[in-house]
Amino acid sequence: MRYSAFSLIKNALSGQRHWQPAWRDAVPRDLYDVVIVGGGGHGLAAAYYLAEQHGITSVAVLEKSWIGSGNAGRNTTIIRSNYMLPGNVAFYELSMKLWEGMEQALNYNTMVSQRGVLNLCHSDAQRDAYARRGNAMRLHGIDSELLDRDQVRAMAPFLNFDDARFPIQGGLLQRRGGTARHDAVVWGYARAADQRGVDIVQNCEVTGIRITAGKVQGVETSRGYIGARKVALVCAGNSSVVAAMAGLRLPIESHVLQAFVSEAVKPLIDTVITYGAGHFYISQSDKGGLVFGGDLDGYNSYASRGNLPTLEDVCEGGMSLMPMIGRIRLLRQWGGIMDMSMDGSPIIDHTPVEGLYLNAGWCYGGFKATPASGFCLAHLVAQDSPHPVATAYRLDRFATGHMIDEKGSGAQPNLH
Ligand SMILES: Cc1cc2nc3c(=O)[nH]c(=O)nc-3n(C[C@H](O)[C@H](O)[C@H](O)COP(=O)(O)OP(=O)(O)OC[C@H]3O[C@@H](n4cnc5c(N)ncnc54)[C@H](O)[C@@H]3O)c2cc1C
Repeated sequence: MRYSAFSLIKNALSGQRHWQPAWRDAVPRDLYDVVIVGGGGHGLAAAYYLAEQHGITSVAVLEKSWIGSGNAGRNTTIIRSNYMLPGNVAFYELSMKLWEGMEQALNYNTMVSQRGVLNLCHSDAQRDAYARRGNAMRLHGIDSELLDRDQVRAMAPFLNFDDARFPIQGGLLQRRGGTARHDAVVWGYARAADQRGVDIVQNCEVTGIRITAGKVQGVETSRGYIGARKVALVCAGNSSVVAAMAGLRLPIESHVLQAFVSEAVKPLIDTVITYGAGHFYISQSDKGGLVFGGDLDGYNSYASRGNLPTLEDVCEGGMSLMPMIGRIRLLRQWGGIMDMSMDGSPIIDHTPVEGLYLNAGWCYGGFKATPASGFCLAHLVAQDSPHPVATAYRLDRFATGHMIDEKGSGAQPNLH
């Protein structure tokens, strides 16, 4: 069923009894052209684009839990394309363009809100680095503005400008950046993929990958064996575990990242702000809660919960940036498992096993990449060649030294 103002009114007048389920509860078939392991945003987006762009509809998305139960439903919803390095710039800008047309394409309200992303700077060196990044973005036709201290103050007067340990000197603003409702993105892609014939199979854990003579044959699952001509692993925090089923050892570590939301308050922050003197970032949800986060917990883990020292560190960042946040009560906190790659950039590539593809290594920033990641993975799987904007995301770059170290912190996954 198509969603529209008319369907809203019609259902409102008939007691809301005629809405149809947004996707079928599919029973897995014996064989598919493509099996996607992982029903997060990336897996569902890839399934949608396989069907929509390439006409491949014999596709199953296998999810061990419910769709969106992983990072897709746990992130802080920030979208942006303020990247600098070749290899990243065109990819993230494609993603931004897909965000901009997403609601029309999916016929779903994903609440894309281009409220701007403002990165604060607190030193001359940091301002120089932002000027360089902003110039690189503009050279690629991506919007960016370098703001001075007064312009930042006009935008966000509640920040601590007067007695901060690290005074705010300005900021880099991308007005087209902002937020999108993460659950809605999952549901929107699921519904649109289902409408095109994709089977979405929840509570179906992949427990093994069957390979014969170097070629993938299918997957063992908690619901039996499912044959597949091609298999794509799109498992975010569990990438290494699932790839190990095919005998692959990935250049990835899994870490916990926490997020936090406060009680709802009146409209206060109408943009996304990142602190430059510590790891803290904040926005306000449409319900009024302040949504914020910071660094990884700093040790390898597969637990979807975090520890208290990180909570303390994040709250200290918040207090130094906007001291009045200390009067707001914290409502909830949760963790997600991040697949941190060795250079902070993702992998969208073939594996050495014929017919087996990998989409992984999304680190802190994979939500904003969801549309382009799905788009490029679908292209790779359908055409057996990388999409032009994703050619740098090769698995062998860690062996050949062609790293894409956007943050400049070297092979330190805990720092990316
Ligand atoms: C706290 C937090 C805040 C974040 N904030 C942002 C942000 O503001 N902006 C941004 O761009 N990014 C952010 N991210 C990162 C972003 O959420 C992830 O990079 C992105 O969601 C990963 O892709 P995904 O949506 O496909 O992952 P997931 O939703 O994790 O999907 C992977 C799926 O694979 C499934 N799976 C795993 N193993 C198996 C198996 N054996 N069989 C079947 N299924 C399996 C999992 O259950 C899961 O549902 C944040 C992450 C966290 C944790």
